[in-house]
Amino acid sequence: MAEDTLATRPVSTLKGVGPALAQKLEKLGIYTVQQLLFHLPSRYADRTRVQPIGALQPGVSAVIEAQVRAADVVYGRRRSLVCRVQDGTGSLTLRFFHFSAAQKQRLSAGASIRCFGEARRGAAALEMVHPEYELLDGASPKPLAQRLTPHYPTTDGLTQPRLRALTQQTLELLEHTPIDELLPQRVRRQLHQIPLADALRLLHHPPANVDQQQLADGVHPYQQRLAFEELLAQQLSMLQFRARARRLQAAPLVDKKGLGEALKQQLPFALTGAQTRVQNEIAQDLARREPMLRLVQGDVGSGKTIVAALAALSAIACDKQAAVMAPTEILAEQHRLNFTAWLKPLGITPVFLSGRLRTKAKREAMALIASGEAQMVIGTHALFQEDVAFADLGLAIIDEQHRFGVHQRLALSEKAATGFTPHQLIMTATPIPRTLAMSAYADLDCSVIDELPPGRTPVATAVIADERRNQVIERVRAACAEGRQAYWVCTLIEESEALEAQAAEATAENLQEQLPNLKVGLVHGRLKAAEKEAVMTAFKAGELHLLVATTVIEVGVDVPNASLMIIENPERLGLSQLHQLRGRVGRGAAASACVLLYGTPLSKHAKARLKVMRESTDGFYIAEQDLELRGPGEVLGTKQTGEMEFRIADLGRDSHLLPQVRQAGELMMADYPELSAAVVERWLGGRERYLGA
Ligand code: ADP
Ligand code: MG
Repeated sequence: MAEDTLATRPVSTLKGVGPALAQKLEKLGIYTVQQLLFHLPSRYADRTRVQPIGALQPGVSAVIEAQVRAADVVYGRRRSLVCRVQDGTGSLTLRFFHFSAAQKQRLSAGASIRCFGEARRGAAALEMVHPEYELLDGASPKPLAQRLTPHYPTTDGLTQPRLRALTQQTLELLEHTPIDELLPQRVRRQLHQIPLADALRLLHHPPANVDQQQLADGVHPYQQRLAFEELLAQQLSMLQFRARARRLQAAPLVDKKGLGEALKQQLPFALTGAQTRVQNEIAQDLARREPMLRLVQGDVGSGKTIVAALAALSAIACDKQAAVMAPTEILAEQHRLNFTAWLKPLGITPVFLSGRLRTKAKREAMALIASGEAQMVIGTHALFQEDVAFADLGLAIIDEQHRFGVHQRLALSEKAATGFTPHQLIMTATPIPRTLAMSAYADLDCSVIDELPPGRTPVATAVIADERRNQVIERVRAACAEGRQAYWVCTLIEESEALEAQAAEATAENLQEQLPNLKVGLVHGRLKAAEKEAVMTAFKAGELHLLVATTVIEVGVDVPNASLMIIENPERLGLSQLHQLRGRVGRGAAASACVLLYGTPLSKHAKARLKVMRESTDGFYIAEQDLELRGPGEVLGTKQTGEMEFRIADLGRDSHLLPQVRQAGELMMADYPELSAAVVERWLGGRERYLGA
């Protein structure tokens, strides 16, 4: 690349950018002129034409020309000047909280004015608060704008006019300092050959005749040109991560001792075809010298745990350690029970480590892990903590991957003590629609367990209003009278463990009152690990009829005799989460049911979502609907982490681009490594450095 490019030129080289302004720009992640150029408007205002008042839409800014009909000072909570204006198509209120006597004088009835502002719904009609205005008193008005006016994401103290002026400067620079076209010809052909500079110019300053609807929807070809490049950058960064990971050395793991066979012999069931297929895919990866990076997707209840256990035995057979990491205490505990039951007969005792262990127990567990005596380690993310040292970790298994980010995946790679990188197996019960998986998990190979063990009866789901709560309680009573068990799940809008625990406690008390003959138990996130375990064990043993729980039971609870689940306020949860919860029933042979007990009134949107739950038990279908209804951040569980956030691309809207993006990514990795690096740097800059660290 040339020495002086827009990519290397600091923003401080622009006219008027001193240290104070540079600091504000830094807050927006803008250090270079090029980064300013890629700081794209989030919306536009149209000041290119005068709009009839009758056509104004609330929330949209517009220019109007009208006659003042009345102007009055109104003494409400705040003194304001209120003008009624009309243009023959409708009328509008202008409201000024700050005004001078002279202003009031000029805005009197009969005056002609032109205003620009955002129309809002007022008490009676649309109104504009503090619009920009000019009086049309014979002299010719200022010319209208030639282009749409961009609105940029900004930060405190950095005004839109300031940002616009800066962008204007960079666009002028763009005239004589070309920006590198990083995409090879073959890829650009797919993008209608739209030059990057043209796309940037258009998006910063769209001409008046641009299709504004397209622009607002983000589907203008020039936006799509940039969205493609951004998605490609993300794809390339993951492929680079994968390539780096592949260059590391892993110890080949082959189960020469036949431990897996021995385990299968002792199981009360035979693996399904899908389980066997995935087991083989994993075994092939493990036998290699490059670290496995494999994602196993399988609907809830598809039997991922046994597949994980078989993989762990390959490591143990080679005298390496295997670790299973779960996102919650309850799930970790569940794994401990399963693995212990399966591996004990083979002479292997799993060691458990979680943040909630007492200091002494923790120290003992860590000593066993460090000495290598612990062949099988099970725990929560406490396993990632720096002070946990593995003697020789051969395989790391991460369950319920959607709760972990790429960063944690990396932290695990670094747990290699011997110069070998552990193989990684990642399991998720949240099926990710295929195109989305292509993007989010480009660094992983994927296996799918697409078959449920035989003998499962699908869960019948009913959607019932809270007004019929008593009927639902009666249903619980009847089911338990027949010797079955039930869950009652409480949900809260607020992500507060304390509030959620309180609500669950109150619900449990209430239900116990109404169901005096049943034994009611309670679990929530605030209980101590031992208390939780005691309740779960009692429920598992059938000593409790009804388990009132917060969403902590989402993952990991396996009680085949529980065949009824009530979920309160299901409208508060995402579909994938509901699907997870519902997967806790329908694990035995008895016909199971799930009641979605919603609060009224229910929005149309919420109704549509609950309908999906009633109509389908297919995790992939549900995930696709979830994606459509709530967007990818929620589905991937990355909304909080910001990991999959884009400037211009939108995984939901642009998913049709992903197959091409994937193809282009592979082509560029193979044939254009330098361009690939430059694309990643351009779009992801600092973030990628962090990911790759
Ligand atoms: P998930 O994929 O949701 O983690 P689990 O591994 O917890 O599912 O398995 C769910 C239940 O199905 C467990 O009780 C497990 O023992 C049982 N199971 C797993 N595989 C089979 C199979 N092939 N046949 C019958 N039951 C199975
Ligand atoms: Mg599981």
